[in-house]
Amino acid sequence: MKDSCSSVSELLEKYFDQEVTDRERLLVEGHLQDCPICRDALTSMEGLRTLIKVPVEEATQQEDFPWVWQKIERGIRLQEKAGWWQSLRS
Ligand SMILES: [Zn+2]
Repeated sequence: MKDSCSSVSELLEKYFDQEVTDRERLLVEGHLQDCPICRDALTSMEGLRTLIKVPVEEATQQEDFPWVWQKIERGIRLQEKAGWWQSLRS
């Protein structure tokens, strides 16, 4: 693992949520180009995020995974943010 991996992995989730600054985004994207380890980490993050699209009844059955709710709540906030941006542009 490269030295920059630890700092990039801290930024990965923010990057995935598009909460990074332009400078941080360049750092992450530059690193991802030559680091399969961090690309894998981002891919598994995308896998987690698809859980948000699971119907709510299905998610409530997974009581062993309270973090699913955290992900869902975050997803809802992100969607609201996206809607807000779209209303600005239109
Ligand atoms: Zn890396």
